[in-house]
Amino acid sequence: MNDETLAKTASSAYDAALEVIATVEPRIAAATRQELADQRASLKLIASENYASPAVLLTMGTWFSDKYAEGTIGHRFYAGCQNVDTVESVAAEHARELFGAPYAYAQPHSGIDANLVAYWSILAHHIETPGLAKLGAKNVNELSEADWESLRAELGNQRLLGMSLDAGGHLTHGFRPNISGKMFHQQQYGTDPDTGLLDYDVVRAKAREFKPLVLVAGYSAYPRRIDFARMREIADEVGATLMVDMAHFAGLVAGKVFTGNEDPVPHAHVVTTTTHKSLRGPRGGLVLAQEEFAADVDRGCPMVLGGPLSHVMAAKAVALAEARQPAFRTYAQSIADNAKSLAEGFLSRGATLVTGGTDNHIVLLDVSSFGLTGRQAESALLDAGVVTNRNSVPADPNGAWYTSGIRLGTPALTTRGFGATEFDKVAELMVQVLSNTQPGTTSAGAPSKASYQLADGVADRVKAESAELLDAHPLYPGLDLA
Ligand code: PLP
Repeated sequence: MNDETLAKTASSAYDAALEVIATVEPRIAAATRQELADQRASLKLIASENYASPAVLLTMGTWFSDKYAEGTIGHRFYAGCQNVDTVESVAAEHARELFGAPYAYAQPHSGIDANLVAYWSILAHHIETPGLAKLGAKNVNELSEADWESLRAELGNQRLLGMSLDAGGHLTHGFRPNISGKMFHQQQYGTDPDTGLLDYDVVRAKAREFKPLVLVAGYSAYPRRIDFARMREIADEVGATLMVDMAHFAGLVAGKVFTGNEDPVPHAHVVTTTTHKSLRGPRGGLVLAQEEFAADVDRGCPMVLGGPLSHVMAAKAVALAEARQPAFRTYAQSIADNAKSLAEGFLSRGATLVTGGTDNHIVLLDVSSFGLTGRQAESALLDAGVVTNRNSVPADPNGAWYTSGIRLGTPALTTRGFGATEFDKVAELMVQVLSNTQPGTTSAGAPSKASYQLADGVADRVKAESAELLDAHPLYPGLDLA
C-alpha cells in the first residue's frame, strides 16, 4: 500500500471507530478528535513523547484487550491464550533481534513496571534463590515463618546506587517517593559541578565505598551519552549487577546511533526501557536481559505485574517491527542531528545549556539566564503554543517543583519531518518568548516563582510563525477525519 492509500484507509478506520464510540459517549469521541487537532497545532518538544504510527495505534483497539493471560508464553494461568502467546512471542522476538539481546520480556505495562521487574529479578537472582537453597527449600511456601522472616529481612536490606534526580536520573533509580527508594538503601552519583558531565571516577569511588548490589545507569534529563563499558567495569569491580534504564534513548540504540560502548545491551546484565519515547511505540515497557537473568525476569508476572496488556504487547510487536526497518535508522540519526541544531540555535542566541550542548536527543535549557524559573518559562512557552516541561538543573536553587530548567527533546518533531533549519527556527521562537517574559509577583507584591508576564503580541506572533512550520510538516499527513 502506498502512503496515500494508507492514509485514506487509516482515515476511514478512525472515522468509523469514532462514530461507534460516539454512539455510547460522544464527549469521548469529541475529545479524541480534539486531541488530534491540538497535537497537530502545537510544537511538541517534550523529550519523553513521540507520535506512534497509525498501525501501532490501531493495534491497541482490539479484543486482545479483553483477554486475561497471567503467566508466561505457553504457561498461562488461563485457558485460551494461544493467540496471546503468538503476540508475546513476536514482540519478544522483534525485541531480541532489534537490540541483539539474548532474552526479552514484553509484559511490563510501563517503564516503572519494567524497572520493578528488573529490581525484583536481580533480588531473586542474588538473594532469594541462593537463600532458598541454603534453607533447603524450593520456594518460599516451603519455608518456616522464621526462615521466611530472615529471608525477607535480607531481601529488604540491599543497596542501590543510581544517578541523582537533579543530575538527570529518574525517580525509579532509588528515590524515596518511588518504591525503589524504600526497598533499597540507596545512594546517588551526580555530575561534575563545573562541566555538568558524568564523572566515572566519582561513580567508581562511590561504588567502592557503598558496594551496591545494583548499579543503575540511565537518565531522563541528561543531555549526553554514557560509556556503558566503563559502567560495567565499575560494577564488576565491586561485584554489582549493572542495570541500564534506556527508557529515553532506546530509539537511538535501536537506530544504531548508540553503538559500541554507548549501546547498553552487550554491557549490562539487565536493560529496561519504555516503548513510547524515542522508540515510537505504544505506552509500555520492556526488559532485556543476559541469559543468566532470563528465568528471574520471566517471573515478572505475577511477581510484580498483573495480567499482561495483550493489546499493548501486540502494538509493541508492530512498533518493534517498524524499528527494524532501515528507515528507522535514518529517523534515529535525525533525532540526534536535530538535537544538535536545536542546541546550536540556543547557544548562538546567547542561551545557557546544561553541559553546554547535547549528543543525544535532549537539550536542557537553563532559563535562569532569562531571569525565569522553569515553571514561568514552561507556562509562557505554552501560551505561545510550545509544549515543554520544566526540569531541575544540577544543584537547582529552585527545587524540583519550580526548577530552573526546561527539558527539550527532538523525537516528536523529527517524526513530523522537522530538520536542522526548522529546529534552529524553533530555538529562535523560544528565545523570542523567553526574552519577552518577565517574572511576576504574588498578590502581596512579593517576587513569585510561578507568575509571569509575557509581552503583548509575542504569543500570537510566535504561534503564527510556528503554524508555518507545522503546516509544512503535518502530523499524520493525509489522515483526514470527517
Ligand atoms: N525510566 C526513565 C528513565 C524514564 O524517563 C521514565 C519516564 O519518564 C520511566 C522510567 C517511567 O516510565 P513510565 O512513565 O512508562 O512508567
